[in-house]
Amino acid sequence: MSRRDKMISKIKELMYQPEFIRNIGIVAHIDHGKTTLSDNLLAGAGMISSELAGDQRFLDFDEQEQARGITIDAANVSMVHEYHDNEYLINLIDTPGHVDFGGDVTRAMRAVDGAVVVVCAVEGIMPQTETVLRQALKENVRPVLFINKVDRLINELKLDATELQNRFVKVIASANKLIKNMAPEELKDKWQVRVEDGSVAFGSAYHNWAINVPIMQETEINFNDIYNYCKDDNQKELADRVPIHQVLLGMVVEHLPSPDISQAYRVPTIWSGDLESEEGQTMIKTDPDGPLAVMVTDVSIDKHAGEIATGRVYGGTLEKGSEIFFVGSHGKNRIQQVGVYMGPERINTDKVPAGNIVAITGAKNAVAGETICDIGRKIQAFEGLEHISEPVVTVA
Ligand code: GDP
Repeated sequence: MSRRDKMISKIKELMYQPEFIRNIGIVAHIDHGKTTLSDNLLAGAGMISSELAGDQRFLDFDEQEQARGITIDAANVSMVHEYHDNEYLINLIDTPGHVDFGGDVTRAMRAVDGAVVVVCAVEGIMPQTETVLRQALKENVRPVLFINKVDRLINELKLDATELQNRFVKVIASANKLIKNMAPEELKDKWQVRVEDGSVAFGSAYHNWAINVPIMQETEINFNDIYNYCKDDNQKELADRVPIHQVLLGMVVEHLPSPDISQAYRVPTIWSGDLESEEGQTMIKTDPDGPLAVMVTDVSIDKHAGEIATGRVYGGTLEKGSEIFFVGSHGKNRIQQVGVYMGPERINTDKVPAGNIVAITGAKNAVAGETICDIGRKIQAFEGLEHISEPVVTVA
């Protein structure tokens, strides 16, 4: 079996084990390194060669994006990562960082449970960082923090160890202030990002290395060593010792919730139906056997296959060839294919159960924000997608 086939069969297996799934988005201000970081994760999963990570803008496949050099359409990719002897299905949604595309970020946040917030160490938290973090928190999406471009602080800005630390403290404090203001009341403290527990990582996406406290303890690499590796122009060795994808993934697996954990507290805020009903309980429990509930988060056109709707399956299982009902438009449709993403490719899987992000071929007339359920069972629609375009409070 080729590596690709192995990955596909593993994805199909892990789709049914919510505790081993993480649906994540990477959010950032433009140019802070989101795409470079995503490429590193794909390289770590063996999907692109590691020499190309940082170079090949794998997620920016759209021609318009290539031409403009910025990420426009949220592109999705599912991959399998091994962590502490377990395999995890990571469904990654790439989100645009440019101010004009905020609506796409909101939609992407509805599909995921956790977000990696990338902040450039040189620029710090920028207005768009605030906006995307707000969008995540408003959707009850839990954040972790990745402070990127640390190499530049050392090699270009020539900061000393104390100055470096002061920068980090400032970025972390600003992020935590926003989290305190915006996270669900009962999660405000739990969701604070902390250096000591590893929910904050530091690194260089361009040079493929990262570090957080648990990895420092495991590898006995400290900030002094990092300083020296960067100064001595030896970041390649650092990347061999602390590869960014492993550190990032450890952080994602440890600190971002699996869909079954997340749906229990998210469903009451994104769905106003009766939580005690069969539909409500199916979603709260991420049950693949109950009534179908899918929220469409994006629709795109494929040259060959036509309309492709991307959505989050919150309850039940979406099956190839089944008839579905669109709650908002009262339309019905027989869907041709269902599957998951692998970069620009879709892998058809016949069925996609609750807790996953699905690609639906033939969901004609679907629009972002639409709720899909079984024929003959009109469920309450999901809450609309409200897009925050301006930061409400500026955090210094
Ligand atoms: P995005 O707009 O957030 O997707 O940012 P990109 O990933 O496209 O990165 C923007 C620019 O910053 C590119 O020129 C990258 O090569 C560069 N870059 C990204 N990460 C790092 C890093 O860790 N260190 C340095 N020195 N440059 C980086």
